[in-house]
Amino acid sequence: MSPPKLIGNTPTLTLTIANSAIARKPAGSRERRLDDPFRDIEAFIRFASVWLAAEKVTVSQGDLARMVCWRDALFEILTAFINGTASSAALAVVNQEAERALSIRRISAELTIETAVCDSFVELLVGMCLDELEACDPTRLKRCLRRECGLFFYDKTRNRSARWHAEDPCGWRSRGERRNQDRPV
Ligand SMILES: [Zn+2]
Repeated sequence: MSPPKLIGNTPTLTLTIANSAIARKPAGSRERRLDDPFRDIEAFIRFASVWLAAEKVTVSQGDLARMVCWRDALFEILTAFINGTASSAALAVVNQEAERALSIRRISAELTIETAVCDSFVELLVGMCLDELEACDPTRLKRCLRRECGLFFYDKTRNRSARWHAEDPCGWRSRGERRNQDRPV
């Protein structure tokens, strides 16, 4: 049986990975910057340590290349899903990694659920994304309508009316831009 699809089940890691390919403008900055957690091995280790709450994370150059491929394919399938188009090549890439990530769970004497250790942190991260996607309501996945932004987000409003990934800055800025356009010259 699949878990209930609750409004609150935001696929946070999945969105973070998909959004990591999008350059953003930090507050107060005029330039878009790409803070890519998969730009090199050190950045990937920092990212994986935070998400996996693991002290010792080791990744190889091969793991990094797989993660970048997976992120790019994830970006494509989310975009295709939102646009209602097909992306079979990207789907094949995502699922190739997903097959490896099938995790084996077991219960401990303390009644905690443990995931058997995979031999790669890529598989653990991919497995976590699959769990998130299973628990979320995919029809709530959207892209921010502010053209300069375009971040993926999960619409948690009851009537699914969110247009921007966040009020601050995108909602505020979009309304401000519209007011400026409406102003007579
Ligand atoms: Zn936005």
